[in-house]
Amino acid sequence: MDKKDIKNFTLEELKEEFKKISEPSYRAKQIFSWIYKKGAEDFNAMNNIPKLFMDKLAESYYIGAVKPLKQLESIDGTEKILFELDDGILIETVLICSNKRKTACISTQAGCKYACVFCASGMNGFKRDLSVSEILSQALFLEHRLKHDITNFVFMGMGEPFDNYENVSRTIKIMNSPEAMAVAARRITVSTSGIIPGIEKFKELGLQVNLSISLHAANNELRDRLMSVNKIYPLEKLIKACEDYMNNGGRMLTLEYIVFKDINDSQKDINDLSKIAKRLKAKVNLIPYSEVCSVNFKSSLKKDVKDFEDGLLKKGINVTIRESKGKDIMAACGQLAGNPA
Ligand code: SF4
Repeated sequence: MDKKDIKNFTLEELKEEFKKISEPSYRAKQIFSWIYKKGAEDFNAMNNIPKLFMDKLAESYYIGAVKPLKQLESIDGTEKILFELDDGILIETVLICSNKRKTACISTQAGCKYACVFCASGMNGFKRDLSVSEILSQALFLEHRLKHDITNFVFMGMGEPFDNYENVSRTIKIMNSPEAMAVAARRITVSTSGIIPGIEKFKELGLQVNLSISLHAANNELRDRLMSVNKIYPLEKLIKACEDYMNNGGRMLTLEYIVFKDINDSQKDINDLSKIAKRLKAKVNLIPYSEVCSVNFKSSLKKDVKDFEDGLLKKGINVTIRESKGKDIMAACGQLAGNPA
């Protein structure tokens, strides 16, 4: 019989699993505590578990892990870790430190189907979805192996989180569970390129997790060119889905907008973007573009990004500029490729 990765189970599912082997449900809580609170990577480390039960566990389950291959540190303190998965696939995870925040930027897929023209993650195509265990393991590695006190978790690494909805939502439930990582929902952010079925289902999660939309263009003609996902879920439908999300108790949305020189930084773009932000009562997060090899876009000058921000401020939009971190190690927004070099 193939062993199962115990980190793929929610607490309720693990209780059910243990019922099948005639173990009481509190054992599931004990295992959760060892794995998620104490960072145990081996059943043998669980010293309050009876030997007989430990043997039963080892017979049917294993504790999945991601194998670090390379760790890079940027001059601004950002860290990037290249992980190898069991089947040899490579993914990347980033830790961004600023003021009192330590943010883990987690990958949800190896590669990406949507291949936005400015993003390295989709350039080598889509390989596969990550399992719950593989997503959680990135966070656990930063917390327990590297001993970082993570304050925020963002699903903004490689891949489109809502394209792997089931595993991402299960991961969030485990992260949020008091018996596991006990991460407050408001410290978790999911960023989507605009997968409408995901936005619709996200409401049902019933947790106050932050939702961010990677907009990057405020009209269909430009968005079609930058992000192929727009051809499936065009702006008017996306905006309507976001409106429904907000009207059904969703937290305030953030619109992520990478500023590309001479592409999406005109006065017309300010006008179009401010209309969308106003309609959705959303905050806008401007991100100076970080260049990616083989892509012909240029970063805007700091002054141009500031002018763009001022233009939005004049329209009454709640807007901030997100400092791009980790550029020197290719760890900034859109730069994660999962390359060993
Ligand atoms: S921006 Fe997001 S959706 Fe687009 S290719 Fe990159 S990871 Fe995929």
